[in-house]
Amino acid sequence: MRDTNEMEVIFDSCSSNERFARVAVASFLTQLNPTVEEVSDVKTAVSEAVTNSIIHGYDQEIHKITVKCRIEQNRFAVTVKDTGKGIEDVAQAMMPMYTTRPELDRSGMGFSFMEAFMDKVEVESAPGEGTTVRMEKTIGKGRNLWTTQSL
Ligand code: ATP
Ligand code: MG
Repeated sequence: MRDTNEMEVIFDSCSSNERFARVAVASFLTQLNPTVEEVSDVKTAVSEAVTNSIIHGYDQEIHKITVKCRIEQNRFAVTVKDTGKGIEDVAQAMMPMYTTRPELDRSGMGFSFMEAFMDKVEVESAPGEGTTVRMEKTIGKGRNLWTTQSL
């Protein structure tokens, strides 16, 4: 079996597509035989990034969001990209509880969740150009070890 695979979806930045993006990514991830917990971690991280593009990147106007996934052996990578307003200070934006939209009841925990649920989170952003969030997670950590030991 090939051990790399890629997919890409482009969709409108409306809030009903938050669920679409989560489900699309989860169904692509299925081929790595993830645990329920691993699926849930990836779905949460993707949701947070897509919601950020909708609310902050595009200020709730409708534009396009691109989600790309790549599988390389048991390594899963997903990028969420918008061409919205961008982030001036990425390090500050990624700090727990930092939010520019407290009036929308945001708690500033989106990036912290992404970092907690994924192995690696990288954010590339420029004011006026948009934001790309790249996340990685190894699926099935320790499962091979268990198989070897149980033989
Ligand atoms: P929460 O995710 O808890 O509802 P939040 O979205 O404000 O609140 P984070 O997801 O951690 O918190 O994001 C922190 C800040 O980074 C946001 O308040 C916003 O200013 C900025 N930000 C995040 N994603 C984007 C984006 N795609 N485009 C522009 N700004 C962004
Ligand atoms: Mg957020």
